[in-house]
Amino acid sequence: MAKFALVTDFDGTISDDDFFWHVADRYFDAEALKPWSEYLAGRMNHIDALNAIFARIHVPEEELLAFIDTIHLDASFTKLLDICRKKEIPVAVVSAGCDYYIQRLIGKKISEYNIRLITNHGIYNRQDGLKMIPPYDSTYYDKAVGISKAAVVRELQKQGYEVIYAGDGPPDVEPAKIADVVFAKKTLLERCRELGIKTHKFDSFQDIVHYLEDL
Ligand SMILES: [Mg+2]
Repeated sequence: MAKFALVTDFDGTISDDDFFWHVADRYFDAEALKPWSEYLAGRMNHIDALNAIFARIHVPEEELLAFIDTIHLDASFTKLLDICRKKEIPVAVVSAGCDYYIQRLIGKKISEYNIRLITNHGIYNRQDGLKMIPPYDSTYYDKAVGISKAAVVRELQKQGYEVIYAGDGPPDVEPAKIADVVFAKKTLLERCRELGIKTHKFDSFQDIVHYLEDL
């Protein structure tokens, strides 16, 4: 039987929506989101756009952390990790966001389930806001996003894995093009359909749990 690996996005896939949207809803006006429009129009790269938005957060850190704690996660995430462990499927979380909020939200699971987290580093101080620093020395380093999710998929495939990929947004399109099995929602689902990439639509990780149960 083929050996499988699971690679999943974080924002909007494990969490219910992108961190910057959560932050924007809570703290910003429309003006603060201009960098995101610039990114969508192709005039700004992903990490620069997010850094420009995150630099506007100036609340006390305890308040920011308490706010992060209110972000909802997919209720089936632990179930997904359990079945992956049972079936000896390694899990990697790949994110164009950063470890500052990902570790806060799923740090315990990351160590408990031996998950690989491949993302940017994030540091916060009230003066400068949240700053994402890409892993410059990593083999996955990518100038536009910080990390190349596709490079993670490719590496696992080279190691003999069939890669199941789950995601929802623009940075998930490149890895979805090469993954062996794709689960998509929101923007990624639309893009995969436009590009003719064979895709499973999913609403929650429960759908992926069912798929893995039948492997
Ligand atoms: Mg996402």
